[in-house]
Amino acid sequence: MTPSTNYKRILLKLSGEALAGPSGYNIDPIVLEQYSREIKQVVDMGVQVAIVIGGGNIFRGVSGERSGIDRVQGDYMGMLATVINAMAIQSSLEKQGLYTRVMSAIKMEQVCEPYVRRRAVRHLEKGRVVIFGAGTGNPYFTTDSTAALRAIEIEADAVLKGTKVDGVYTADPMKDKTATRYTTITFEDVYEKKLSVMDLTAFTLCQENNLPIIVFNMNETGSLLRLVQGEDVGTLITT
Ligand code: UDP
Repeated sequence: MTPSTNYKRILLKLSGEALAGPSGYNIDPIVLEQYSREIKQVVDMGVQVAIVIGGGNIFRGVSGERSGIDRVQGDYMGMLATVINAMAIQSSLEKQGLYTRVMSAIKMEQVCEPYVRRRAVRHLEKGRVVIFGAGTGNPYFTTDSTAALRAIEIEADAVLKGTKVDGVYTADPMKDKTATRYTTITFEDVYEKKLSVMDLTAFTLCQENNLPIIVFNMNETGSLLRLVQGEDVGTLITT
């Protein structure tokens, strides 16, 4: 029997750094394969999966400033970095036997499709995993904002932010041993307590559009599957 889920369509946000594994740079083939296996499990349940992946393992706009690269130029470089990660995930998912499409916010026809909302939705309806590359296509944004924006556009049930931590804590669990994880918390409380979930642009976009965010540990084997099956995994942020 196929296990049940309340999710029809999810947007999974993965940071570029997570893809890098312990080194923090480049793409770790072991992490890549592990993520693809996890994603396949939920696709096999019939959940429609869209992915936004960061680029921090390759390039970040702000860090470019230190090396003498103009901020806007750096941001475009960061967006291109996300396409490299998107292509890596695509390849890895295909090895798992999944059907996929990379859709880029910056046109690069020889490499992937341009982002067109209706086409993205159609791909998802056909069971293809859609990976959104090149962020929003605009400098001064992040891939968290991209995740929020695309999730709203495709009417995803939630943004699932896969991180290295188990969820949102009352304090930094690395520094404070008494810190406990929130199972659920409201947008307002996150804001008032100044807890870090996403950058404010992304966060506000989710709040204003009633889009739940779930922060969970993507590095814990099986956590994505358990989450979509409704188990107490990570922290749910809602209105
Ligand atoms: N970026 C951008 N506009 C966007 C999305 C991303 O300019 O809409 C650039 C920005 O420079 C950012 C980089 O791409 O630093 C990589 O994205 P991000 O830092 O969000 O990646 P992550 O931290 O998730 O690895």
